[in-house]
Amino acid sequence: MALKIWLDDKLVDEAEAKITVFDHGLLYGDGVFEGIRVYNSKIFELEAHIKRLYESAKVLRLEVPMSKGKLIKAVEKTTEANGVIDGYIRLLVTRGVGTLGLNPFICGDSRLIIIADNIQLYPEELYEKGMEIISATTVRNHPLAIPPQVKSLNYLNNILAKIEALDNDVPEAIMYNHEGYVAEATGDNVFIVKNGVIYTPPVEAGALEGITRAVVIRLAKEEKLEVVEKNLTRFDLYTCDEFFLTGTAAEVIGIVEIDGRVIGDGKPGSYTLLLRKKFFKYAHGKGK
Ligand code: PMP
Repeated sequence: MALKIWLDDKLVDEAEAKITVFDHGLLYGDGVFEGIRVYNSKIFELEAHIKRLYESAKVLRLEVPMSKGKLIKAVEKTTEANGVIDGYIRLLVTRGVGTLGLNPFICGDSRLIIIADNIQLYPEELYEKGMEIISATTVRNHPLAIPPQVKSLNYLNNILAKIEALDNDVPEAIMYNHEGYVAEATGDNVFIVKNGVIYTPPVEAGALEGITRAVVIRLAKEEKLEVVEKNLTRFDLYTCDEFFLTGTAAEVIGIVEIDGRVIGDGKPGSYTLLLRKKFFKYAHGKGK
């Protein structure tokens, strides 16, 4: 079934949802985006996603062409118009039509695109058995080059690491920063458990400030579990008791092997399973 796409200020048929080849979103990856889940017809953590989108845009001096309130309404309308009950929303702002030069300030109006569709999840089996991953050799973007907190349309740093993962027949790879500390996975945040304490790298290590990460930290604290933000090394990953990733698409997924080192007893651990269960309950039960 053809989708209804939000383009700029209204819903249009999928066939009409077109962007010109002179849009700097295409020519230079100049733009920002969000990926958002819908659970039971409710849009998950929508305000947090909108806030992050505005912050990313601010760093790039890109104007979001709509107020936060109107943008929330537009996301809701797009979701409803497509009858999405459990799905995924992709929200993008591109710089707009410019010349073949870099200058963003002579571009026309920025463009707003909202797509609400189904989502391709990892198979259930992967959640039960846990995932094998590798360390990427591709270093995470230096924060003085492009702050990793900016969720921009240029994902080439992550894509290079993803290619390394796929070349090694695994779905994900860990990215380290320029100092050798763990930053994040190509599309997910990193958590480990050691001696009953949950550790995650601070955002300054070069991670996107994941919305799933924030929810999982909150849920862990509600369970009176200790969560510490700390720089992690490859050694920490190899020797931890449990390892899991968090992200909008992956939710909470256990890692059972990295670079040939088995984690714990080779199965997703008890903290991972507890937090996955709590996350599921929270996501499916929470209002808008
Ligand atoms: N890091 C990167 C690089 C990401 O692209 C994402 C989102 N897919 C995440 C972390 C997780 O963030 P969130 O929980 O907000 O989806």
